[in-house]
Amino acid sequence: MSKRSYSRREFIRRNSLTGLGVTLTPSLLADGLTRIPQQPLDPIPAPAIFAAADTPAILGGKPIRTNEWPNWPMWHAETDEKRVLEVLRSGIWSRAGVTTEFEAKWAETVGAKRCLAVVNGTNALIAALVQLDIGGGDEVLIPPYTFIATVAAVLATGAMPVFVDVDPETFQIDPARIEGKITPRTRAIMPVHILGLPADMTRIMPIARKHNLLVVEDACQAWLAEIDHKKVGTFGNAGCFSFQNSKNIPMGEGGAIVSDDEAFMDRCYSYHNFGNPYGSVVGEVGAGTLMMGTKLRLAEYQAAIGLAQLPRLQEQTVLRNKNAEYLKAQIGQIPGIVPYKLYPGVTQAAFHLFPFRYQKEAFKGLPRADFLKALNAEGIPCASGYAPLNKMPYLAHAFQTKNFRRMYARDQLDINKYNARNECPQNDRLCNEEAVWFTQNMLLGSQADMNEIAGAIDKIYRNADKIKSLATK
Ligand SMILES: *Cc1c(COP(=O)(O)O)cnc(C)c1O
Repeated sequence: MSKRSYSRREFIRRNSLTGLGVTLTPSLLADGLTRIPQQPLDPIPAPAIFAAADTPAILGGKPIRTNEWPNWPMWHAETDEKRVLEVLRSGIWSRAGVTTEFEAKWAETVGAKRCLAVVNGTNALIAALVQLDIGGGDEVLIPPYTFIATVAAVLATGAMPVFVDVDPETFQIDPARIEGKITPRTRAIMPVHILGLPADMTRIMPIARKHNLLVVEDACQAWLAEIDHKKVGTFGNAGCFSFQNSKNIPMGEGGAIVSDDEAFMDRCYSYHNFGNPYGSVVGEVGAGTLMMGTKLRLAEYQAAIGLAQLPRLQEQTVLRNKNAEYLKAQIGQIPGIVPYKLYPGVTQAAFHLFPFRYQKEAFKGLPRADFLKALNAEGIPCASGYAPLNKMPYLAHAFQTKNFRRMYARDQLDINKYNARNECPQNDRLCNEEAVWFTQNMLLGSQADMNEIAGAIDKIYRNADKIKSLATK
């Protein structure tokens, strides 16, 4: 279908004919639990919302959606509270058997030999980098399209983050730009599976091998995402996860490192427990502390919450993938809406967020900020996402610290030179002009909910002129 021939009738027809997703019963989320239907149900008929869709809510019309979206985090008294109460009543709240049990389950879930639970994803990244001996004087390649924790972790080790621009179609680090950023000081690549969509590990790993670089995967948004049925976080030397409250498997706070490298995992364990002996980090218990360490131990009640959330994560991930695929097919028909692409070989994504690019030219030049306001007014929460992390004052601040001034030559800390070397125009356009996100909980709704999202965008598309003239007044 050419963009020019796009019409409402066409949109409705396609909406009613494409049966990509599953239709879920409305009561599905009522008890805070989701169950995946055994078989796809019939595609639902053309949504009635279009009949009443004429005046945009932002111009005083009726919002397309007035229902709530699923709350986050979710828990269910019957399945979740027993274990947490057991921990509470045992009085054993500091790291013990429940944390070990969670680690074993998480390692098994992602298909790694070992897992270490830690206080959060940020410190999982720091511990992994430090135990791979990354520090002052080193450069670590990262994408600028990420959460600040990725960069903060690199800086915390004393290494210097070097930004590799993104592929705007996938929102991920662009493998084609990695080699151009490698210098004699480059020690590691830290791909981020941002938004829960897998980075292109199929191309990144051979580049790392060719240049003898370590790979630490920031999988803090990518629980259970897979490439060729292999979970992300298990491609590189180490993979790091977050279980913070907003994440797809929430514990309040929490994180994990996974790896198949036993000696590395022993060092991580020792490091997370003051450097005390563990595994191959041998020493008589009581003979003293062997390594420089810190304390990053998870608490038992956090692990108990994680154990309760794990089955839910698995069911919900399947549902998010189905709804995302359906929503993508729906909104991809609207001119100026360009949904994410997944790399070939991706067998599952995590969809911590559902991203698309908004191209205002197709919307009569309506700025993204006004599009977001109009969509929010329709009852569809949405956001513009990240701001460019390669252009923020914390970098100059880091370079002025005593440690950085002692570890690097003055020339290496010249912030103007650094900025010039770290320009990322693709990322700038995503952050400043095009990216739009929906949050993961919205993908836990029904197919009818997805139709409402698509219908709301369609309504704004058709009324872009009117909305723009109001917005510019
Ligand atoms: C959340 C997140 C982190 C950090 O995890 P915390 O548990 O919040 O410390 C790191 N990287 C990315 C991409 C994240 O989204």
